[in-house]
Amino acid sequence: MQAARYILPLLVTLPLLLDSVRTVEAQTLRGSRASVDRIHRQALNHGVHFYESATTARRGVADGRLVRLSGNADYQLAGVSYPYALPGTVTFVERLASQYRSACGERMVVTSAMRPRSFRLANSVDKSVHPTGMAVDLRKPAKPRCLAWLRNTLLALEATGVLEAVEERNPPHFHVAVFPTPYQQYVHRQGGSAPVATTTRTAGRTAGTTAAARTSAPAPQGRTTYRVRKGDSLWTIARRHGRSVEEIKRANDIKSSRILAGQVLVIPQAR
Ligand SMILES: [Zn+2]
Repeated sequence: MQAARYILPLLVTLPLLLDSVRTVEAQTLRGSRASVDRIHRQALNHGVHFYESATTARRGVADGRLVRLSGNADYQLAGVSYPYALPGTVTFVERLASQYRSACGERMVVTSAMRPRSFRLANSVDKSVHPTGMAVDLRKPAKPRCLAWLRNTLLALEATGVLEAVEERNPPHFHVAVFPTPYQQYVHRQGGSAPVATTTRTAGRTAGTTAAARTSAPAPQGRTTYRVRKGDSLWTIARRHGRSVEEIKRANDIKSSRILAGQVLVIPQAR
């Protein structure tokens, strides 16, 4: 038996092997209960809120904890009933979509974002993190070249620990859960100057975006978002928008004053 000679080394290296099984699993983006658990645990670790219903989700939108995915030149939404996500996840979509379009020449397609628990699909799992707004679903590209690019890019990001991506079959999509703090730190390490800086969200898809709108764009519901640049502090941003540091912290559900270049902040409007 050919296999027999492998048994002893297998026993010796079992802990190592278990590790590599996990790695292989991650490398193929194959879904598993372990990955669902891991994502769910990450969500709990980050203390993100699971929205139960459309009503509580609306509250999250109103106080800026959920940000709208508006679509832009780099990505579109398809059949997304509730186009909101956590600010870090919106940053992720915009950055990835910008790179995707450069690499592929087509727009990326987002098929799902935040889903309150009451919207749960029949085949979705109890531990889905869609109700938190940290996850988005991306349609699998039809072009092999684009599919390979997206798969490899998600794998590379997953390897850095900033997200977990799972390739789903029914319908074919990538389920991507973005871990808020690790991802913001990653953006920071990248210098925060994503090529996406020129495609900051505007209300709807306004053509001919002005220089002003590039950094501070009106968002739906009379809110504004701002992409943090190098050298910004919460204090300078607050002052520039006529808001207090506390108001901005509250609107973004952040506890510390540490902000990172590239991070998208919601600027609450005067009431
Ligand atoms: Zn999903």
